[in-house]
Amino acid sequence: MSKEILVVGSVAYDTVATVRETRERQLGGSASFFALAARLFAPVRAVGVVGDDFRQADLDLLSSRGVDIAGIERAQGPTFHWSGRYHADMIERDTLATELGVFADFQPALPAGWAASPYVLLANIHPALQLDVLEAVDAPRLVVLDTMNLWIETTREALLAVLARVDVLLVNDSEARLLTGETGLKEAAAAIAELGPKRVVIKKGEHGALYFGPDGVLAVPAILLPEVVDPTGAGDTFAGGFLGWLADRGVDRDAPDAEFRRAMVAGTAVASFCPQAFSVEALADLERDRVEARMAELSAMMTP
Ligand code: AMP
Repeated sequence: MSKEILVVGSVAYDTVATVRETRERQLGGSASFFALAARLFAPVRAVGVVGDDFRQADLDLLSSRGVDIAGIERAQGPTFHWSGRYHADMIERDTLATELGVFADFQPALPAGWAASPYVLLANIHPALQLDVLEAVDAPRLVVLDTMNLWIETTREALLAVLARVDVLLVNDSEARLLTGETGLKEAAAAIAELGPKRVVIKKGEHGALYFGPDGVLAVPAILLPEVVDPTGAGDTFAGGFLGWLADRGVDRDAPDAEFRRAMVAGTAVASFCPQAFSVEALADLERDRVEARMAELSAMMTP
């Protein structure tokens, strides 16, 4: 059974400021973090666009880790740029800039053969682009979508159109409330199921993540880290571990909930590496045995 995961999302340059240090224009973007996590489990095909300022070394990094970058187009203009500043708690952050650059005119096109991809991850990007890619895929086994407050607030109609065709939604707690108007997260997950996705993951940062599916709720704690260097991309990295795990096991949208609950542990384990270094540094050389050691650590944390 083929396991390829097609991801569309941002391939970005991020400028990240923490209390200790500022790093300018380093590799980021929802598709980059996702791909470097998911490739630990299954083949990844990336769709996106970069500008003429994008460093070849950054494309080489993705492809040297097994990510198929044939769907990443190079266009004239600046690469998507995101800039944020973390508060001293390393949890709260202020977005200082979101500059779409070449994403403003991007028309996604799938390389030959990619329409047959069985798994689709619509990573955080304008929902109209997410829908374009979903419409170009033939008959995916499982479709997962990640989004953020910007799109919920500014492009709600387009987001609702794509959500109607999605199996699993990944959001954080404030986004779940913003999307549904519900305060309780259980009520928010139920309201999201009415919009399309029958399974919902609500991420709660350093408190872990909740999964709402047909068998009820699962709460997975986050790994306790000695130091957080840069949490940017942890959500996308979670998505990579989560869908990578499901793709490796050939799971489809009607599979038993136990598969999805186990994927929560994989997603949490992979995501825990991301904040330990800037940009994608902690993911670039990650190997599956280290992820599995953290999955065991999580299982112990969850056993009464
Ligand atoms: P996270 O920390 O999981 O929210 O992911 C942060 C990553 O998402 C950064 O690498 C950004 O480049 C990217 N990002 C931030 N805002 C957007 C946006 N509006 N659209 C697409 N990607 C974004």
